[in-house]
Amino acid sequence: MNEFWTYLQSRVTFGNVIEVAIIAYVIYKILMWIRGTQAEQVIKGFILLTVLIPLCSWLKFTTLYYVLNSMFTWALIIIVVVFQPEFRSALEQIGNNRIFNRYLRRSDRNMVIKNIARISRAVMDLADEQIGALIVCEVNTGLNDIVATGIKLNAEISTEVLENIFTPNRPLHDGAVVINLWTGKILAAGCLLPLTDNRTLDTELGTRHRSGIGISEKSDAITIIVSEETGVVSYAEKGGLTRGLHREDLELLLADHFSKDDEDEDETNKKRFAFWGNKHEK
Ligand code: ATP
Ligand code: MG
Repeated sequence: MNEFWTYLQSRVTFGNVIEVAIIAYVIYKILMWIRGTQAEQVIKGFILLTVLIPLCSWLKFTTLYYVLNSMFTWALIIIVVVFQPEFRSALEQIGNNRIFNRYLRRSDRNMVIKNIARISRAVMDLADEQIGALIVCEVNTGLNDIVATGIKLNAEISTEVLENIFTPNRPLHDGAVVINLWTGKILAAGCLLPLTDNRTLDTELGTRHRSGIGISEKSDAITIIVSEETGVVSYAEKGGLTRGLHREDLELLLADHFSKDDEDEDETNKKRFAFWGNKHEK
């Protein structure tokens, strides 16, 4: 046993252990990213090919081997072309990782909390007046593709601007607003979102809700939706829709995502309490 340890120590360095941990983490992240997406089926096919090719070679099925082998090369190129948007958003995610954003400085956190209050107030005012609204909050996945479909604003988040955007018959009221709470900016308005393919949704949900759900399937964004027909406030996350939000629910939801820090739960609760204390502040 002792010999084994000495042997292991002579062969395995601390660097190796770190390397294996990083590779395992990257593979895990890739698998989580693929799970439930269209890429899942493609990857399954790919894995099948990697099993079939050596099998054909072993069984000396030369023609089949040749066909599968050329398919494999083509499949690689096709995958890169077909999944180009996914690769792009994955690369954007790496650059835009929450790790860098998580450690908000206190002043930044105060700004985020103020902006959450501003957004919530706008959403509730719009709901009271039954004005339809669609607000996409960017989390880790960059939404540049979506921003490009609308009018770039790069404006400070404010209740007035948000309410103004969605006021009927104004040029920007149609489509979605994209905001980033980390930077405190309204990135764009009048943006076009992808509709969800989900057929199990309530048939009374129209395109505003379906597009809000759609973007939450394709990215980690959180979408806030105000129904023009009912004034009901909903939010979409990871393809799911929660309806009937009150102001407190909305503030808590956003605070949970954007102003959390890595201190222990107790600290977080204290912060939350402080947050409630000044939630009426504008
Ligand atoms: P509501 O309860 O407000 O009626 P709804 O889910 O029934 O919502 P619609 O009545 O179809 O949805 O809402 C249409 C509005 O939704 C459009 O005027 C537009 O502003 C917005 N909308 C529809 N499709 C998209 C899309 N793909 N991307 C962004 N916004 C969209
Ligand atoms: Mg409708």
